[in-house]
Amino acid sequence: MESQILKIHRQLVNKDVSCTALIQDKLDALAANTHHTVNTLLPDYALALAAKVDAKISNGETIGILEGIPFGIKDVYMLQGTYATASSKLLQNYKSAYTATAIQKLLDLGAIPIVKENCDSFGHGSSSENTIFGAVKNAKNPDLVGGGSSGGSAVNVAKDFTVFSIGGDTGGSIRQPAGYNGVFGFKPSYGRISRYGLMAYASSTDCVGPIAKSIEDIRIVLNAMSGKDVKDQTTFESTPISEEIISKENTVKTVGYFKNFIESDAINPQIKADFLKIIEILEAKKIEVKALDFFDSETLVSTYYTLAMAETASNLSRLDGTNYGNRIEADSLKESYAVTRSENFSEESKRRIVGGNQVLSQGFSDAIYLKGLELRDAISANFESDFKAVDIILSPVTPNTPPKIGDSLKDPLAMYLSDAYTVGFSLGQLPTLTIPQGTETGLQITAAKTKDALVLQFANTLKTLL
Ligand code: GLN
Repeated sequence: MESQILKIHRQLVNKDVSCTALIQDKLDALAANTHHTVNTLLPDYALALAAKVDAKISNGETIGILEGIPFGIKDVYMLQGTYATASSKLLQNYKSAYTATAIQKLLDLGAIPIVKENCDSFGHGSSSENTIFGAVKNAKNPDLVGGGSSGGSAVNVAKDFTVFSIGGDTGGSIRQPAGYNGVFGFKPSYGRISRYGLMAYASSTDCVGPIAKSIEDIRIVLNAMSGKDVKDQTTFESTPISEEIISKENTVKTVGYFKNFIESDAINPQIKADFLKIIEILEAKKIEVKALDFFDSETLVSTYYTLAMAETASNLSRLDGTNYGNRIEADSLKESYAVTRSENFSEESKRRIVGGNQVLSQGFSDAIYLKGLELRDAISANFESDFKAVDIILSPVTPNTPPKIGDSLKDPLAMYLSDAYTVGFSLGQLPTLTIPQGTETGLQITAAKTKDALVLQFANTLKTLL
């Protein structure tokens, strides 16, 4: 698909549509939608900005490419003065005191936020059912889950309710819902985009990233948000990725894939067959394909969840009703903390907080948490040697198609295992893009850390190849 951002930019410049009408249209579509994608609509905020864009256009001033473009924000980001609920009861009434760096950069370029989007509470989940705003329904089939945790964001893009949305990806939360709803979703290299103002889930793998309908839109939004930020010491300076670089002829000579992902008993036979067909297509185009050894799904998933739970238990310890959250008074301060947290966190979030505190506690941390760190380093070392042998790693996004609404809630362990193909790349902090091609839930393109441009370039190659 062509760039939606460019298309709308042209319409605005040519006065085919006013920015106010465009924004109002999207707000109306969001308000009327039955997919449960909306936590808060931002009509006053958005329409005030739209009026400014319209005034500029009618004065004959030039506008930037992102100016007036409506976008959505997963409800785990700060946007000053608006609700930031994390889809939780605990923060249902919490308003952001400041704006996240990534969002501020988009605001500075004139993009217009119109909605805070439904998601799994605090990013905890793979289906967007762990939310107080109602389970997000899949864009293609509303009986199925929207995917998670950035489910509302992916569905909004798929349904054209937003032109692009900003998701958050800790273990697959941008890539998996993108795959489930047939859109592009990019988790950049860890550190490329500042996490300041993104509610922390697992700080060592949390990434900010765009969901959109074209590779070009992913590129534009990625460039807009990237850069070093003094408020996030893990960020690094990156050069903007040009359109020329990613549309030039294929430079990828060798593609790898993980044998055990494809040979696993847990993979849906159609996804497997479709993936193997892609391998054949690549080989026919004289791209060398190498089968690689990798850690088994159980190891990847347990390493990820050990670290993610430990980090989220620590990060969420600040939510006790004192500075943040709906406080429930009790007889003593300690009791008040306990009641506030037990009444206001969801079952899934509590499972993770309890699990995380367990793996961090004395007597367990050496055996479990430190083992998790060791395995994470081994996984990173594995990637390092893989990328000496291949330029790109290609993989399905998920072993299965999206479940029916309600099914994942019955079996949390099965839900954790459904993340088997996404979490490894998170632990490796690698740039990974879901493209809506190849299998029913898409394909993941991954490159070595900081080679985000190569990922987008190969996505362009696959656009014509598949
Ligand atoms: N499904 C994974 C989890 O629940 C990933 C979530 C995410 O990336 N925020 O941890």
